[in-house]
Amino acid sequence: MSEVKERSLLGLTLQELTCVAEEAGQASYRGQQIFEGIYRRRVESPEQISNLPQPFRGALVEAGFSVGLPGIEKKFVSTDGTVRYLMALADGQSVETVWMPEGDGGEAGDGSEAGIEEENRAWNRATICVSSQVGCAVDCQFCLTALLGVKRNLTAGEIVGQICALLNEQHVLLPQDRVNIVFMGMGEPFLNYDNFMKAVRLLVEGVGIAESRMTVSTAGIVPRVYDFGSEPVRPKLAISLNASNDELRSRLMPINRKWNLEKLMAAARDFPLRPRERLTFEYVLLSEVNDSAQNAREAVELVRGLRAKVNLIALNPGPDIAFETPSEERILQFQKILIAAGVPAFVRRPRGRDIFAACGQLKRTVELQTI
Ligand code: SAH
Repeated sequence: MSEVKERSLLGLTLQELTCVAEEAGQASYRGQQIFEGIYRRRVESPEQISNLPQPFRGALVEAGFSVGLPGIEKKFVSTDGTVRYLMALADGQSVETVWMPEGDGGEAGDGSEAGIEEENRAWNRATICVSSQVGCAVDCQFCLTALLGVKRNLTAGEIVGQICALLNEQHVLLPQDRVNIVFMGMGEPFLNYDNFMKAVRLLVEGVGIAESRMTVSTAGIVPRVYDFGSEPVRPKLAISLNASNDELRSRLMPINRKWNLEKLMAAARDFPLRPRERLTFEYVLLSEVNDSAQNAREAVELVRGLRAKVNLIALNPGPDIAFETPSEERILQFQKILIAAGVPAFVRRPRGRDIFAACGQLKRTVELQTI
């Protein structure tokens, strides 16, 4: 018996799926039905694409096709409701995907949501943080993922698959449930640009998540920032600034030696924003390293004139990370300087720190030590 190579349907475009159907001697529109089955209805196996004729479903399986959803290997639930998932990929590698629900906190309070049969959900909006690579090559000194190095790029199917697996696990109904996607998990999306962008298009056209609900964060891969600006369909852009001058940034983020602040900020200035769109800059605050009043003033100069906001993230600590989280007072002082200079600045609440799910903590940590 010849060995059948497993092929996953997730990651294939409508056109590619149409070819799969045609090569199997089926009508072209069967491609559309597979597309809807795997992305919109998020089936788990070809047998579940119920509008395909049974023999064709069998033939797909016979030919080695599977949907290709990653398996949920482990999950860790935080006291704040965040869930960190360890997703198993076909080759034995794994990545992490994080689910961050937001309760309605009773704000609505007017019963407007009542009457919807909603199995008593604890959330009315959620954000999924997705990985783009196994590990990361960028080597930011404050990030745990960097310690893994980069193992490989994820395929478009593996990127979309993380999201579909989570949407299924959380019983999300689209389009009515509000879900945001952030490409801010393990890896540098702009070093896996083509697969990342292919995944974006499949999410928009197939899964049904608007690109306006997606944000990608880059450590500053400048040529890809330009490419990204010319994409007809694209998420919002966030740039990890993390330092206010080149000397400091090169120390914290070695990638700055290749594309320094002048090049990065030029790309940010040239970036074609849509009406009402803003750029986001992330700034990880490291106590007594990049969080002084002088650093804040330098950061103001960098972003001056840009339609942008700054998200301040207090360092999420981790083993082998040689930095400390600043005091609340220093964080607020930094924020105050930005705001006084007219730069919108927000202090991001850490999510899932207790389970190593917060920014910079994704390292497939399985043993949970207290920190
Ligand atoms: N590689 C991309 C995507 C990762 S996003 C990028 O660098 O932008 C992760 C965000 O978390 C980045 O803004 C990064 O600067 C930030 N981060 C990394 N390590 C962190 C840590 N230990 N504490 C807080 N934020 C961290």
